[in-house]
Amino acid sequence: MSTESTPVIPPGSTIGILGGGQLGRMTALAAARLGYRCHIYCPEPDAPAFAVAAASTCAAYDDAAALDAFADAVDVITFEFENIPAASAERLAARALVRPSWTVLETAQDRVVEKKFFAGIGAGTAPWRQIDDLGSLERGIADLGCPCILKTRTLGYDGKGQFRIDKPAQAAEAWEAIKGAPAILEGFVSFQKEVSVIVARSPRGEVNAFDVVENVHVDHILDTTRAPAQLPSELAERAAAIAHAAATALGLEGLLAIEMFVDFDGHVLVNEMAPRPHNSGHWTMDACITDQFEQFVRAVCNLRLGSTERHSNAEMKNLLGRSIDQWNEILSDPKAKLHLYGKLEARDGRKMGHVTRVFPRWKTDSK
Ligand code: AMP
Repeated sequence: MSTESTPVIPPGSTIGILGGGQLGRMTALAAARLGYRCHIYCPEPDAPAFAVAAASTCAAYDDAAALDAFADAVDVITFEFENIPAASAERLAARALVRPSWTVLETAQDRVVEKKFFAGIGAGTAPWRQIDDLGSLERGIADLGCPCILKTRTLGYDGKGQFRIDKPAQAAEAWEAIKGAPAILEGFVSFQKEVSVIVARSPRGEVNAFDVVENVHVDHILDTTRAPAQLPSELAERAAAIAHAAATALGLEGLLAIEMFVDFDGHVLVNEMAPRPHNSGHWTMDACITDQFEQFVRAVCNLRLGSTERHSNAEMKNLLGRSIDQWNEILSDPKAKLHLYGKLEARDGRKMGHVTRVFPRWKTDSK
């Protein structure tokens, strides 16, 4: 169990990051500003984080020899996405400090375990059923009614591994679409808003959350985040309290993003969590005293957490695929901060960068 006496990983140390996407890249940049070196481990040779890291390993996530050498070369290990095989995370944990612990990863990797975790801390979710075969899917549809959403228990992101069922006759089609993988069936939440909260907890037990934000998804992919969320204060407080309770119950050492629905009856229902920096926290880079990536580094290294105070309101928009071609226009907008991830190929739907429009509060408040 971590305590106040848990050692600090001081600046100058090397942070190992599993995953080489934009989240790893922005973490490595934040770590460098605090004097750390990052060692990125990723199987894809052109991963965007490699370009900004001090050291890199390009190997499969189940390559035992590469994992061992990586663990021996770094002072602490974290991850920038949660679909690392559990056996690899365990292997690393036997040789090196892994934060957050792999038990947190396990809870977040499986939608059924995750739903049970949230029930255990008294946080509501959509009604759900565990689905193991076509029979249990048919019974689940009868119980929850239509529409409902069939999701694979593991490895889903940005709407992948999901099938919306509008009538019971679609059961077999849905089961086939997710290839008969272990699944969860969720009742459809008619929501007025989707919101998220990013919370950090350090090994010394400090907990600190960013403001609640609202998110708009298009085709299951985050399109826009607005900070702060326009919500009655009791709902924003409820969302923040869930995040705080989850970080504490998990014994989190790192960062946790929790996505939630606000339904029309004013309930806050958890959708899912990710124990890492999150797309809906990118706005913090330009609108908060400490951003989510620096906070992540501080938490993983057991430094004091930074202030999450929001000095500006903000609107973050993802730049998917060819929409990065607008980079030149964006640069001429005085409110815009452009972030590009250095990805070589602008495939449709691929997250290539984001732009945050910033509205300083001293200006908005004085009106
Ligand atoms: P997920 O991959 O679970 O985050 O789902 C992606 C998006 O699909 C969410 O951000 C929602 O917009 C939508 N969605 C997922 N689950 C539900 C649900 N149970 N009810 C309504 N919409 C959902």
